[in-house]
Amino acid sequence: MFFDLPTSTKLTMRVAFFSTKSYDKESFDNYETKHKFTFFEPKLDISTAALAEGYDAICSFVNDQLDGEILLKLSEMKVKNIALRCAGYNQVDLKKASDLAFRICRVPAYSPEAVAEHALALLMTLSRKTHKAYNRVRENNYSLEGLTGFNIHGKTAGVIGTGTIGKAFCNIMLGMGCKVLACDIIENEALKNLGVTYLPIEDLLAKSEIISLHCPLTPETFHLINRKTLSKMKNGVVLINTSRGALIETKAVIKALKSRKVGNLGIDVYEQEEDLFFQNLSEEILLDEEIARLMTFPNVLITGHQAFLTKEALDEIAKITLQNLDELAKGGKLTNEVRWKNEP
Ligand code: NAD
Repeated sequence: MFFDLPTSTKLTMRVAFFSTKSYDKESFDNYETKHKFTFFEPKLDISTAALAEGYDAICSFVNDQLDGEILLKLSEMKVKNIALRCAGYNQVDLKKASDLAFRICRVPAYSPEAVAEHALALLMTLSRKTHKAYNRVRENNYSLEGLTGFNIHGKTAGVIGTGTIGKAFCNIMLGMGCKVLACDIIENEALKNLGVTYLPIEDLLAKSEIISLHCPLTPETFHLINRKTLSKMKNGVVLINTSRGALIETKAVIKALKSRKVGNLGIDVYEQEEDLFFQNLSEEILLDEEIARLMTFPNVLITGHQAFLTKEALDEIAKITLQNLDELAKGGKLTNEVRWKNEP
C-alpha cells in the first residue's frame, strides 16, 4: 500500500536513533535504506546528546527531550534534522527549533486503531475486572464475589479530541452501542453523520459516563482534567487517557478517586512518565509517590505507554520514518513537517 523509497534520492544520512528497543530495531531492519543507522539505547537528554556527534540526523521517540538546551547542543554539533518516530510533538521546543533552523518530521498517523483499541482494552478490563479474574483463577479461586462489572452498551461516551485516534475510538464506541458525545476545536462531519454529537466541553463532562482523552498536549490542554473539570463530571465516571499524561492533573485525579467521583481510571500515559516508562525498574525503589498512590486503587489500571505497540503500527512507523528521512536528505518539501505555529 505504501512506497518504494524514491530512486532519485542520492543523499545518504547518518542517523542516530535514541531510546531504541529491540522491537524498534526489528521494524527498521525489515526495510532497505541507503541511510546509515546507529541504534542507541539511551534516552536523549543533555547527558546523552553528545552521542549524536558526527550524525546528520537524529531519530527520537516520545520521551526524548528536545528542549532549548538540547536543541542548542545538537545545533552546535551541526545535527539539523530530526525524525520523530511518534505522532505527538509536545516534547519539542518548536520556537527554539525554528530559531535554530531545524527541520523536523513526525509520523502523524501510523495506526490510529492500535491506540483506540488499547483505550477500549483499558475500558473493558476495568468494566469487567478481567485483571482481577485472571489472577483469581490462577490461584484456583473461582469466587465471583467483587467481580460485578457494568455494560458498556447503552452508556454515554464522551470523546475529547476527534482526530485520527479519537475518530477511531468514536467508531468503536458507536459499535458497542453507546451514545457518543464529542468535543473538538474542529468538528468532523462524517462522525456527525454517524450520530456523534459535538458539545462544549462542560456539557460533555456533565453528561458522559465514560470519558476518553484523544487531544494532543498543548499549553491549552495542559491539565485539562483538573479539580474544576473533575467536579463537573458524573459521579463514578470512567476516565481513560491514552493521549499524554499531563492532560490529567495527577494530584486532582487521586483526590477524585478517593472521593469516588472517578469510578475507574485507565491510563496508558502518566504525567511524570519520563523517568519511569520504557524501562525495567523492578529491582529499584519506586520514588514517585503519585504513581505509587495510583497503584493502590483497585479501580485504577495503568499500562506503560504501550497503546502504539502493535506489529502493524511499528511497521507503519518504520515506513513513514524512512520516507521522512529520505525527504529530509533531499532537502525539499517535507510531507510530515512539524513547524512552529507562527512559521509560514
Ligand atoms: P490528531 O492530531 O489526529 O487529533 C487530535 C485532535 O485533537 C484534533 O482533531 C484536534 O483538533 C483536537 N484538539 C486539539 N486541541 C483540542 C482541544 N483543546 N480540545 C479538544 N480537541 C482538541 O492526533 P491523533 O493522531 O489522534 O493523536 C492524539 C494524541 O494521541 C497525540 O497527540 C498523542 O499525544 C497521543 N498518542 C498516544 C499514543 C500512545 O501510544 N499512547 C500513540 C499515538 C498518539
